[in-house]
Amino acid sequence: MTSMYYDKDADLSVLQPKKIAVLGYGSQGHAHALNLSDSGMNVRVADRKGSKAWEQAKNDGLELGTVDEVSQWADVIMVLLPDQYQKEVYDSQIAPHLKPGDTLAFAHGFNIHFKQIVPPSEVNVMMIAPKGPGHLVRRTYQDGKGVPCLFAVHQDPSGETKALALAWARGIGGTRAGVIETTFKDETETDLFGEQAVLCGGSAELIKAGFETLVEAGYPPELAYFECLHEMKLIVDLYYEGGLSLMNYSVSDTAEYGGMTRGSRIITDETRAEMKKMLEDVQSGAFAREWIEENAQGQPRMQQLRAATRSHGIEEVGARLRPMMSWLNRPEEPREDEE
Ligand code: NAD
Ligand code: MG
Repeated sequence: MTSMYYDKDADLSVLQPKKIAVLGYGSQGHAHALNLSDSGMNVRVADRKGSKAWEQAKNDGLELGTVDEVSQWADVIMVLLPDQYQKEVYDSQIAPHLKPGDTLAFAHGFNIHFKQIVPPSEVNVMMIAPKGPGHLVRRTYQDGKGVPCLFAVHQDPSGETKALALAWARGIGGTRAGVIETTFKDETETDLFGEQAVLCGGSAELIKAGFETLVEAGYPPELAYFECLHEMKLIVDLYYEGGLSLMNYSVSDTAEYGGMTRGSRIITDETRAEMKKMLEDVQSGAFAREWIEENAQGQPRMQQLRAATRSHGIEEVGARLRPMMSWLNRPEEPREDEE
């Protein structure tokens, strides 16, 4: 069993005297900054001047500056910028201000593990990665609870990096729920594999293939949408609350039997072999190189693939059906930073 750390294992007083910078006031950034500030820490935040996030941070009453200004001031710098911009911002606005004994922190291991960012050896490097989106990290904290986190130490010249990581996890509420120690390598590789094979890639392809099979067989696309996409949430909520067994318990016996006898015809030996190859691409750095190159080119393939998804039949049906669902309040437009 991996060991778990709780409030009693984390000492906030190691972080208390530090000047803390939270760079990026987005999903994670606003939650880390507000929770740490409410925990009595000395926090300043940075974002792009004039962005929505900038205005939000000002309205939330936090001390605010540019990445340059806040990095220069700080001893502990948490980088909560989008992963693909971190290297550029690090090179131009963070690295010039790093002093021996400073601490650089991340919520995802990609840029350190794949050596996009190589901090000086006299700087501590740590990760605190909540296993949930920022709004949940903020809301649970305000409710006196927390979201479980992973933490890791990449380099520790000062000898206090683990204590700082645990203190950070406590300051954002994570140790109330429990935090697990990992490495940058394991966090990065499992995260990339999970999103590719299961969460984003695997589930989207499964939904599309099911929808297309029904529509090609002549069934109304509306029915295909409900069956293959809409109801996915009901099933996933059951997994989330009680695992595979709760799902089996909650659906009809017919669904349970049909699923258990047929599911393995979808995820075949061939699929499993492909999963292993995807994992190898993650481990070897081949995926990371491809993604870094794609960004360097201005994301041409990404734009094409996004456009193809938007024009898929299931998106057209969904856009017509979702207004029937009064309980949905999610705007149809992509968010500011998604384009
Ligand atoms: P986000 O897109 O929600 O927020 C990023 C913020 O950075 C935005 O406010 C944006 O305005 C700002 N920004 C972008 N470019 C900037 C620049 N050049 N200078 C200053 N500010 C700039 O990002 P996020 O989802 O909070 O992700 C941040 C980090 O947290 C990533 O490393 C991500 O992998 C990690 N993470 C995210 C989640 C999640 O659920 N969202 C969970 C765990 C870890
Ligand atoms: Mg993830």
